[in-house]
Amino acid sequence: MSGIVSKYSSTRTGASRPTPPLLDNHGRKITYLRLGITDRCNLRCIYCMPEKGIDLLAHDEILTFEEVSRLVAIFCRMGLTKVRLTGGEPFARLDCLSLIDHLKREVGVPHLHLTTNGVETHRHIRRLKQIGLSGLNVSLDTLSRSRFVELTRRDRLDQVLRTIDEAVRCGMHLKINSVITESTTDEEIRSLAGLAKQVPISVRFIEHMPFSGKTATSVVQEELLSTRVNRLFPRLHTVLARGPSTARLFSMAGFRGTIGVIGGQTRCFCAQCNKVRVTPAGRLKTCLYGKSAVDLKQMLRSGKDDGDLENAIRGAVQERHIDGKAAELNNGFKEQQSMASIGG
Ligand code: SAM
Ligand code: SF4
Repeated sequence: MSGIVSKYSSTRTGASRPTPPLLDNHGRKITYLRLGITDRCNLRCIYCMPEKGIDLLAHDEILTFEEVSRLVAIFCRMGLTKVRLTGGEPFARLDCLSLIDHLKREVGVPHLHLTTNGVETHRHIRRLKQIGLSGLNVSLDTLSRSRFVELTRRDRLDQVLRTIDEAVRCGMHLKINSVITESTTDEEIRSLAGLAKQVPISVRFIEHMPFSGKTATSVVQEELLSTRVNRLFPRLHTVLARGPSTARLFSMAGFRGTIGVIGGQTRCFCAQCNKVRVTPAGRLKTCLYGKSAVDLKQMLRSGKDDGDLENAIRGAVQERHIDGKAAELNNGFKEQQSMASIGG
């Protein structure tokens, strides 16, 4: 087989036809799949999960390698060009590296990305580069060791920094994601931003969202994040104001990289949203803040063919809410799940 279309051939039906693009009921084209491949994790970030961890899915509740591969091929045939693997911690799944290799080489995902906490990732950077991973997002909320332990409940900062060093050395397209909580100090924000001064990477500050047990009203937003970043770096200029990306990007004279702000709680990016999610349990979510739309795993395991799956996905995106606030309102539950079970 040759060519991009044949790469998306179904492992089940042999169908290889590209299908019309995936459009939602508000005219937004869906081109990006965020795929949670596990709910397990080797850190316990205080904003993501409790100290004892979350109630984990049984292994047979998690999508298999073959199921993931088949779903990704179906999404790619519908015009999705970007897939991000996330979790939980993707490397907590034993077959993570072979899955990445398979999705890139056999399924032919045009732009394959990975979001990781960076603890084990340094071992795999060279291989990821060889496979052709398009980009790596490493989550890191502080450069202080004691604060890292406080925030993640684990003493693993050195390993994460090793991952960042190795990724920079290998020329990997790298972004650092830093969740800013009420306890984050100005000094921590300054030192994280300093990474973008030294190397051509993007450091993105993310508004803390009320997942894992906190209700929306309990989040204290004393100062909107972008106001705070602008106060700390008054000479910033805008590089990217808006677009399909959730981040607004800034830079500054003397910086080799960029600084980004992601308003996850403010939700200023919904109008351009091009993304859907599949959770480790195989549920399609058309909005981070909404209920799951379709149980794709149940469909996969009850013998549905690719056409049935495609129709179910198309039907779900036709019922998308206009934005995250509307989705959350309709969601009905006051407490959100951990990001680890949604896929962050
Ligand atoms: N374990 C990997 C990691 O930490 O990068 C991937 C999964 S994690 C759930 C994905 C992203 O979600 C991370 O960047 C993490 O910081 C972010 N996240 C988790 N809980 C959050 C929350 N309550 N508010 C904002 N971001 C959150
Ligand atoms: Fe694990 Fe990522 Fe959640 Fe932290 S944010 S506990 S690293 S899944």
